[in-house]
Amino acid sequence: MPLPNHWEAYFHQNALHNVYMRCPHCDTPSTFAVTNVGQDPAGTKIIYYAILQCNSTRCRKRTYVITTKNGAQNADQDRQTDSLTFYPSGPELTAHKSIPDLIAKDWVGHKNASTWEPRRPQR
Ligand SMILES: [Zn+2]
Repeated sequence: MPLPNHWEAYFHQNALHNVYMRCPHCDTPSTFAVTNVGQDPAGTKIIYYAILQCNSTRCRKRTYVITTKNGAQNADQDRQTDSLTFYPSGPELTAHKSIPDLIAKDWVGHKNASTWEPRRPQR
């Protein structure tokens, strides 16, 4: 998917240094300790593989990410052409038990769509 609105990554000398995003474990905007696993050239881009550890003291869980950036040292990520894949892809959403199953399913679907899908510009 293209870069979601909640994702910000900072690179230094073409290494992924800092990430700010909504943590898929604790569902909170957070900073992360970055462990670079590897990177591969792909045309004019570089594909980055990294493990991010949530800096929230109550969470500290790890997320595996794959993202891309133009290979030029001073280039930032481009929200349209760069991509981001992460695992797990989001918190497991569950509706309160008092909510009927059919509505609960709908609510979870809506929450997933509104939280995790980047909004397309209105035309
Ligand atoms: Zn977290």
